[in-house]
Formats: sequence, structure tokens, C-alpha cells
Amino acid sequence: MRIAVCVKHVPEGPSRIDPSTKRLDRAGEGALNHFDANAVEEALRLKGDSDSEVVAVSLGPEKALDSLRKALAMGADRVVLVSDDAAAGSDLVATSRLLAAALERQEADLVLFGQQAADADGAVLWAAVAERLGRPVISQAMELAVDGESVRVKRQTEFGYDTIEASLPAVVAVSDAINEPRYPSLKGIMGAKKKPQDVLTLADLGLDGAEAGEAGSGTTVLALGEPPSRGDARKIEGDSNAAQAIVDFLAEKRLL
Ligand SMILES: Cc1cc2nc3c(=O)[nH]c(=O)nc-3n(C[C@H](O)[C@H](O)[C@H](O)COP(=O)(O)OP(=O)(O)OC[C@H]3O[C@@H](n4cnc5c(N)ncnc54)[C@H](O)[C@@H]3O)c2cc1C
Repeated sequence: MRIAVCVKHVPEGPSRIDPSTKRLDRAGEGALNHFDANAVEEALRLKGDSDSEVVAVSLGPEKALDSLRKALAMGADRVVLVSDDAAAGSDLVATSRLLAAALERQEADLVLFGQQAADADGAVLWAAVAERLGRPVISQAMELAVDGESVRVKRQTEFGYDTIEASLPAVVAVSDAINEPRYPSLKGIMGAKKKPQDVLTLADLGLDGAEAGEAGSGTTVLALGEPPSRGDARKIEGDSNAAQAIVDFLAEKRLL
């Protein structure tokens, strides 16, 4: 079985929008989206000691290789990065097109995603990619079992659990409750350097610039604004008078 895991390289630290591009400033340090570590872990668990292959796939700038190397250090067998200047500024429509094109070539039985990306929090890309691949999709998986022909998922919902089965090949987005991702061992980190790391351009995927970046996007950011002020805020420190101070504040606001 081949398992492809989609992982995103996300900026670390506080988010800043670059007013000139109206995009998130991605110039600083980045790291593997922590929700995607759950997806890598699940792929490695499914692989176990079998001869299954785990390939991590990302779309991003070249420094996204750092996050892919973390997936290798955790135990993935190889990685594929789609990186092309023309892809900068890709919205969901363009991102899903590029990732789906890269995934088609992998011919994976199972494609895993994290539940969301910590920078954009869309929690939607997996559905768009599955639609483009024409595969069934199950989200919020908190248990996952594969029996060769199908995948069975315990899906977390607001009201309890669903048990859902889909035939392979399929797309599954895992919940962050599914597992505890392993830390890469020193041996894993050293071994990662020797594993295959493919970097593909749009041309390698048979796509052109009109299908990526702003040109290939379905949305345009028109304006950006600060969130409205929350008005007066008062900070009550946690000493022995704090409880009384909170009561006095609520009474003053006529909330008691
Ligand atoms: C106008 C516009 C311009 C944008 N420009 C950029 C840009 O220049 N660079 C940029 O990175 N984003 C850009 N974005 C955001 C980008 O479109 C989203 O990051 C993308 O559609 C995925 O959505 P999400 O991050 O909300 O992921 P979610 O839907 O929350 O992610 C779910 C899962 O999808 C997978 N995933 C998400 N993104 C990737 C990826 N890139 N590679 C592999 N797997 C992934 C992960 O498994 C993740 O857990 C732009 C958005 C807009 C609207």
C-alpha cells in the first residue's frame, strides 16, 4: 500500500499580513504544521513493519523542505515538494489544483491530511483535493483502519461518533485527537538526509502559470482591516482581592 501525506510548512510566531501583497508574511522561520504531524504519525502507524510506502507531499517555497525533512525524520520514506515562484499567492482553488496534480502522480491508495493548517485554518483543502481526484473523503478521523480494499473511520462529530467506510483509493483528514506524534530520533534525523527528496515545478506537473498563483486563483483579496477594538479592558491580577474585584466589576456593569 502507498500512503501519501499532505503536509504544510507554516510560519512560526505571530502572524503578520504584508500590506503590499495582502498575503501572510511567510519570510520568517517556519515549521511543520502541527496538525500534519498527526497525519504523518497515522501513516507510519498504518505502515508498521510492512513494505507499504509513506510519501509526504507539500506545496510551498523551497524552505518547506525543512518540514518535509521532519516527516522523513519521523519515518516517511520519501518526499515530494511542489515549488515554483508562479505558485505564490495560490488560493484554495489553485492550491488544490497543484496538490491534486502532484498526488495523481503518486497513485496512492490512501491520501492523508491534517485537520487544518495552523496559518489559514481553512480546514477545507482535503475536500477540494478529493473532489479533484474524484475520490471519497472522510474528515475528523479519530480512528482509522485499512483492510486492503477499504478504509474504516471513526469520525468525531459534535454529537458523538460516526463509523464510516469508504473504498480505496480514498482521502482522509485526521483529527488531532487520533494519536500522539512521535519525536524524530537522532537516527531518524541522520537517516532523513539520504532519503529521496523530489522538487517539482509546475512544468513537471504539466501545468502552466495561468493555473497557479493569483492567475489561477478564484478569489482576490480586496481589502484588509484591523479587528474592531474591544473597548475598555480592565486587568484584574490574581491576588486575594481578585474575586471581590471581579464581583465589584460585574456589579458596576449591572451584570449581577
Ligand atoms: C488570495 C490568497 C492568496 C494566498 N496566497 C498564499 C501563498 O502565497 N502561500 C500560501 O502558503 N498560502 C496562500 N494562501 C492560502 C492558501 O490558499 C491556503 O493555505 C490553502 O488553500 C490551504 O488552505 P488552508 O491553509 O486553510 O488549509 P486547510 O484546508 O486548513 O488545511 C488542511 C490540510 O491540508 C493540507 N495542506 C494545506 N496546505 C497545504 C500545502 N500547501 N501543501 C500540502 N498540504 C497542505 C494539510 O494536511 C492541512 O492539515 C492564499 C490564500 C488566498 C485567499
